[in-house]
Amino acid sequence: MISGLEYEYRSGLGSDLHRLKEGNRLVLGGVEIDHYAGAVAHSDGDVAIHAVIDSLLGATGLGDIGELFPDSDPAFKGIDSGELLKIVNDLIASKRWEIVNIDLIIHAQMPKLAPYKGQIRRSISSILGMDFLAMNVKAKTGEGIGVVGREEAIEAFAIVMLRRRLKRTL
Ligand SMILES: [Zn+2]
Repeated sequence: MISGLEYEYRSGLGSDLHRLKEGNRLVLGGVEIDHYAGAVAHSDGDVAIHAVIDSLLGATGLGDIGELFPDSDPAFKGIDSGELLKIVNDLIASKRWEIVNIDLIIHAQMPKLAPYKGQIRRSISSILGMDFLAMNVKAKTGEGIGVVGREEAIEAFAIVMLRRRLKRTL
């Protein structure tokens, strides 16, 4: 038997956007970023992790982040999004899914994220217990236009591939 046929595969897409406000914390992929402004959010407003969570929930057909962690629930106020990602990782693992790879894009006009990309990769891949090389992070600006370009918002997109070993039907 060709080994690839012993697995089923799923892909999932996630996105997130938060408004930026002067004086707020900016946390991306669990990494504290030194910046004059940060996300307006019920949680820590980590767009990178929120996009990854939605991609994982999408691939597994488990809905979206708002269903699992409603922002009306005081339990999630100011919560470290890494904790939410751990919960989601345990959930998909309980259904035997394993992550093949994740590709993440963060859109921010400022600050320049290039110096943080490695840290963000390490942080998310370690939370998920996955290979660092399979967790890619790209950073783009808003080209000075739109809500990202005017530094009014920060946005992220993530795509994930999951696989699960097929149960033998013999
Ligand atoms: Zn969010």
